Amino acid sequence: MTRFGTVNWSKIYLYSFSRKFYKYIMTNEDIVWEELSGLPADPPDMRDKCIQCRRPVAVCWCPGLPKNPLNPASRLIILQHPAEVKRCLRTAPMLTLALEHGKCLTFRGKKFPLPKHEGLTEILKDENTVLLYPSPGAIALDELTPVGTNAQKPYNLVLLDGTWPQAKAIYHSSPALYFLRACKLVGVSTSEYVIRTQPTEGCLSTLETGALALSILERTPRIKEEMLGPLHYLCRFQLENGAVTHQSKEFLIKQKSYPKLIGKRLAKQLRVLSEEP
Ligand SMILES: [Zn+2]
Repeated sequence: MTRFGTVNWSKIYLYSFSRKFYKYIMTNEDIVWEELSGLPADPPDMRDKCIQCRRPVAVCWCPGLPKNPLNPASRLIILQHPAEVKRCLRTAPMLTLALEHGKCLTFRGKKFPLPKHEGLTEILKDENTVLLYPSPGAIALDELTPVGTNAQKPYNLVLLDGTWPQAKAIYHSSPALYFLRACKLVGVSTSEYVIRTQPTEGCLSTLETGALALSILERTPRIKEEMLGPLHYLCRFQLENGAVTHQSKEFLIKQKSYPKLIGKRLAKQLRVLSEEP
């Protein structure tokens, strides 16, 4: 018995003299072996994952999504730090699934735009593109002309997705972002994302930021309410199943119950905040 199994060698000899045919069999055999060696030793991990959000079914937040994806005039452009993809409780996929196809584009990297970010350069050159980032010249988001007023076209709203240090690093390594009109959310309430500690009061998750910003730009509060559905669903589920409510570091430090010594930078930030009227 050879590895060729039932191949009849005498027939091969008769039919061919032909190295071609021999080659053909070799090739086929190679393909089969290659395919076999590519099979995983264990069955694939099929632990019932939701096909939409790709989270295990037990912790899927899809029931909280709007019944029909929302279709605002403006688009969200998410520039996502690669490390954000690995976090298990991230909110950017909630944005993508809550909005119509094409209304939330995600580009991944540590700086932007790179050649692999197809279409991003054009978006960043568009005069209706604005960056949500608290750079020194940033104006309040609600000072932007709402879509439809004075013929204002829909916006491309750029969000940096990652932790604060990651978002800062993206900004500083991406000079193309310096030229965008920058805006910031002012007077925002505490995050409704109660199971992840936010660094300061008024610091929102990517979902909350995107939802709130869109509802302001389009003057449609309903957008925010509907888009936050999955977050509320997830938090309710996690809290019912034993997660602890996390208050922001700022709140805990004010209450002197934050367990770690805080860094110089955060201490300064908090001092500035507490000195503000
Ligand atoms: Zn799901």
